[in-house]
Amino acid sequence: MHVTYEDGTEAVQGVSLDVKEGEFFGFLGPNGAGKTTTIKTLVTLLYPTQGAVHINGYDTKTDPQAVRESIGYMAQETSIDFELTPRENLRVACRIYGVPKAQREERIEELLDLVDLQDVADKRAETFSGGMQKRLDTATVLVHRPPVVFLDEPTTGLDPEARLRVWNYFEKINEQGTTVFLTTQYLEEANELCDRLAILQDGQITHTGTPAALKSAVGTETVTLSLDKPTDETQRRALEAVRRLNALDAARIETTADGLVIDADNARAATSDLFTELAAADTAVDDFEIRSPTLDDVFLTVTGDDAVDEQRETAESTSSEVAQ
Ligand code: ADP
Repeated sequence: MHVTYEDGTEAVQGVSLDVKEGEFFGFLGPNGAGKTTTIKTLVTLLYPTQGAVHINGYDTKTDPQAVRESIGYMAQETSIDFELTPRENLRVACRIYGVPKAQREERIEELLDLVDLQDVADKRAETFSGGMQKRLDTATVLVHRPPVVFLDEPTTGLDPEARLRVWNYFEKINEQGTTVFLTTQYLEEANELCDRLAILQDGQITHTGTPAALKSAVGTETVTLSLDKPTDETQRRALEAVRRLNALDAARIETTADGLVIDADNARAATSDLFTELAAADTAVDDFEIRSPTLDDVFLTVTGDDAVDEQRETAESTSSEVAQ
C-alpha cells in the first residue's frame, strides 16, 4: 500500500505486510520512518492512497466498522480518563465497545488482574505512574476481547522497570492467543518481544524476518582475545594457530596491541577448538570475549550510522524527560 498525505508527503511507499494469526509482529524503524502512518492505516484512521488493507478478513475501506469492532488500538497518546478510576475507565470502555452488560463486571475483574491494577482499581488514575497508565490504557483496548491489538510505540517515555512490566503484560495477552502488532523505535523491545519483525525506513520495508534471522543475515560473531604475554612472537604463533584452524570459518583476523580480533560466522561453536589450538601453540589467553550480532548491527547496516545515533538520542532524551 501507499499512503500520501495531502501536502504530498509520501509517508508509506509500497509497504506489503502479511501478519499471521497469533503472531507477535514488530514494526521497527527510526523516527519519521512511517510507523505511525502505517498503524493508523491499519486501524482505519487513514486509508491507503493506493492498495488495500484487510484486517481479520475485512477491507478497511469498504468495511471500516467491522474492522474497528474486531481490533484493539492503543495510540501513542493515552485514551484513559484521568478523573476516573481504572474500574470506571474499564466500564466506559465496555460501553464504547458494546460488551454485553452481563459480561462486563467479570471482564473488568479479569483485566484488572491481568494488568496488576487490582490494588488501585478504585483510585483516580491521575496519580498513576506512566507505566500504570499505559497498563490501564492497554486493558481498555482489550475489553471486547479483540483477536488483534495494535500498539503504537507503547513504551516510549517509560522507565526501564515500567517497560519490563508492560512487556510482560504484552507477552501474556499474546500467549492467550491475541495477535499483536507493535511499532517501536527500541531495538531491544523488538528483539525481546517479536516473533517476526519488519524494518521500515523512509516509508519502505527494507527487511522482514525473525530477530534471529535478521541478526545472522547481517552480522558475524566476533572474538576478541587478549594474550597472557603479548609479544611479537606469541602474537605470531597465535595468528598462525588461528589460520591453521579449519574448524573456524574466519572472515577477518586482525592483530591488536595485546591479542587478536577474529570475525567468524561460527566463532561461538568453534571456541573450544580455538582454545585447544592456541594452547597447543603455547600462547596462553588472558581474557576473551565473543560478541554475537545484535539488532543494532542490523540497524547500522540497514539504515546507516546516522539513524542509529538519532534513535539513541531519542531514546536518551525520552528517558531524561522522564527523570525530570
Ligand atoms: P514514525 O511513526 O515512524 O515516526 P510517521 O508515520 O509519524 O513516522 O511519519 C512519516 C512521515 O510522514 C514523516 O516524514 C512525517 O513528517 C510525515 N507525516 C506524518 N504525519 C503527517 C501529516 N499529517 N501530514 C503530512 N506529513 C505527515
